[in-house]
Amino acid sequence: MAKHQFQTEVGQLLQLMTHSLYSNKEIFIRELVSNASDAIDKLNYLKLTDETIKATLPQDWAGQVNITFDEEDKSLTIIDNGIGMNEADLIASIGTIAKSGTKSFVEAMTGDAKKDSNLIGQFGVGFYSVFMVASHVDVISKKAGEEVAYKWSSDGTGEFDLSACTKESSGTVIYIKLKDEEAEEFASKERIKNIVGKYSNHIAYPIFLSYKEEVTEELSEEDEKSGKEAKKTIEDRNEKINEATALWMQPKGKLKADEYNDFYKSISHDSSDPMATIHTKAEGVNEYTTLFYIPATAPMDMYRADYQPGVKLYVKRVFITDSEKELLPTYLRFVRGIIDSEDLPLNVSREILQENRVMANIKQASVKKILNEIKKMSKDEEKYATFVEQYNRALKEGAYQDFTNKEALLELIRFKSSKAEAGKMTSLKAYKEAADSEQKAIYYIVGENENVLKNSPLLEAYKKNDIEVLILDDKEIDEIITPMYGAYQEWEFKDITSAEAPKVEQSEEAKKEVEAKFEDITKKIKEILGESVSDVRVTNRLSESPSCVVKDAGDAQMAQMAQMMKVMG
Ligand code: ADP
Ligand code: MG
Repeated sequence: MAKHQFQTEVGQLLQLMTHSLYSNKEIFIRELVSNASDAIDKLNYLKLTDETIKATLPQDWAGQVNITFDEEDKSLTIIDNGIGMNEADLIASIGTIAKSGTKSFVEAMTGDAKKDSNLIGQFGVGFYSVFMVASHVDVISKKAGEEVAYKWSSDGTGEFDLSACTKESSGTVIYIKLKDEEAEEFASKERIKNIVGKYSNHIAYPIFLSYKEEVTEELSEEDEKSGKEAKKTIEDRNEKINEATALWMQPKGKLKADEYNDFYKSISHDSSDPMATIHTKAEGVNEYTTLFYIPATAPMDMYRADYQPGVKLYVKRVFITDSEKELLPTYLRFVRGIIDSEDLPLNVSREILQENRVMANIKQASVKKILNEIKKMSKDEEKYATFVEQYNRALKEGAYQDFTNKEALLELIRFKSSKAEAGKMTSLKAYKEAADSEQKAIYYIVGENENVLKNSPLLEAYKKNDIEVLILDDKEIDEIITPMYGAYQEWEFKDITSAEAPKVEQSEEAKKEVEAKFEDITKKIKEILGESVSDVRVTNRLSESPSCVVKDAGDAQMAQMAQMMKVMG
């Protein structure tokens, strides 16, 4: 037997788990069942694509999850016949934190119990959540196609033990010794049924709950008359406790909002209801079903280069992958859900996926569907504000990345503006409609702070001429992306720090005259400022303030741009 240290972050996470700051402890069953289902998905796929693995499986192999509990032993066991883990898998999967989502969760932890427990709700903390209720856990696992099984044991503090053992068939057994104070609640038939029904009703495999039931013998009338005592026997029950159907295959009309929302929670680890649900069944040249969700709050890892994609690909109900970032364009990486195709081959590889016509069609149609749904949401500006708050930035990325849908995306973006009331935003459509007939461009200014921008001396000439200026204060992205939009319905985007001020008429002679008048002073200012500016000039842009700083037109922020491009994929 070998002892192993947990990676530091795991230690921190476990510390939090074992002190059970989180009130929603029941989710550990959802997490373990979802892992079991993932493991079966993987073996299901190998069974169809790998002859060697197929040969090791019984002919009638079918994925299933079994749950048992023991009130006296104060324990709960979750068993799957999925792909299993070998020694290296066990160390890598449940001893370290590989996922960016979990990592950023640990990084975001504050040490403040209340805040941190809120954070858990937003994350799929996965396997480790078991330590909210367990005093000790054994994971006994055998990987499909391999001979030796391994046992991983830990009480959730500092280290875990690993040793070889024997196990007949491939898959994983998770034995959970419950903490005394949790035993009564979770080693219970009704409670388990209830939790599985709530979170795991629509995983694609049957979940069986085994328990013992006391059965009283039925007596015949004669026996009853003769005073015979009914015999009591203990019988083993094995009850299927979930529906085990792919929810997305059910007809739209049959599904209730609750069912959609519960399913969302089971695939997203999110504890809140989604903002929108988009269920589509396509028939025709390509046949497929998609079920997409827009989370109420943007995923925490959305602006990390190593974000986890949220869409799973299935082919005829067989899980193919959940790590393919190309299923939707990167700007829609906040979308969660499922794509299930009837036409793709099961052994579709990454390379094939990227070039596949079928996949390209599904992707294109999916983007249209999602954008349409967002457009529908935008009809109610007040409600739409909650979407904008979370995803405006993603739309901006899209308007730059997705040429086909650029106009649609530009219309969905909302902008702060020199004319909008505080807290209100405007759209390009509204901007154009409000402009007078002389105007032929969309004017904007970029910076870090809304108030500073709104009081910029550069706005004076525009205010005077009653021209609305968009206030872009998400500098990191706005500065780079806005110039790349090009135009919206033929109106070009113009940065007022480098564009000529509108409608200020001044003859060449008058201009020369003013320049001559101020020649000495501009020279002097230039001397004083020296290297820190490239030029000092007289301007007609200002009407009240004496001076302002403007950008050099060729001033490209290359480093910042490279960083942003990386995040956008
Ligand atoms: P996630 O499921 O999001 O990857 P978890 O913490 O739930 O994160 O699980 C970590 C990893 O442990 C999984 O990705 C998987 O590789 C492995 N794992 C967990 N449970 C099982 C299981 N029952 N069978 C096979 N592998 C498992
Ligand atoms: Mg998991």
